[in-house]
Amino acid sequence: MSKEQKPGWKTLTRGGLILDAGNADEYATGGWRVKRPEWIPDNCIHCLFCWVYCPDSSIETKDGKMTGIDYEHCKGCGICAEVCPAKEKAIVMEPEGGKEDGDE
Ligand code: SF4
Ligand code: SF4
Repeated sequence: MSKEQKPGWKTLTRGGLILDAGNADEYATGGWRVKRPEWIPDNCIHCLFCWVYCPDSSIETKDGKMTGIDYEHCKGCGICAEVCPAKEKAIVMEPEGGKEDGDE
């Protein structure tokens, strides 16, 4: 059996380096998501708690009102749904790709 050739330390990219400023926007981190926040506009009171707490700046707003969710960057942590104070939650977490058999 031949030994697998792996890159040596001289050819590997150095870790822990941010080479360009403001480059987070270029990474479509939404691909990591296993749960997806679904916004229910009729329940939304536009308090923007979700916007304040979202760690990925993925709550979209316009003129001081929530307008949607940036699914390219939302990682599905569920914080927005947790902090939403609306009487009927305006954000609920669903399995990515739709409800699965056995889900409530
Ligand atoms: S699930 Fe997490 S990352 Fe996605 S919009 Fe909500 S708070 Fe932001
Ligand atoms: S926290 Fe809930 S009610 Fe407030 S803006 Fe976000 S979705 Fe709307």
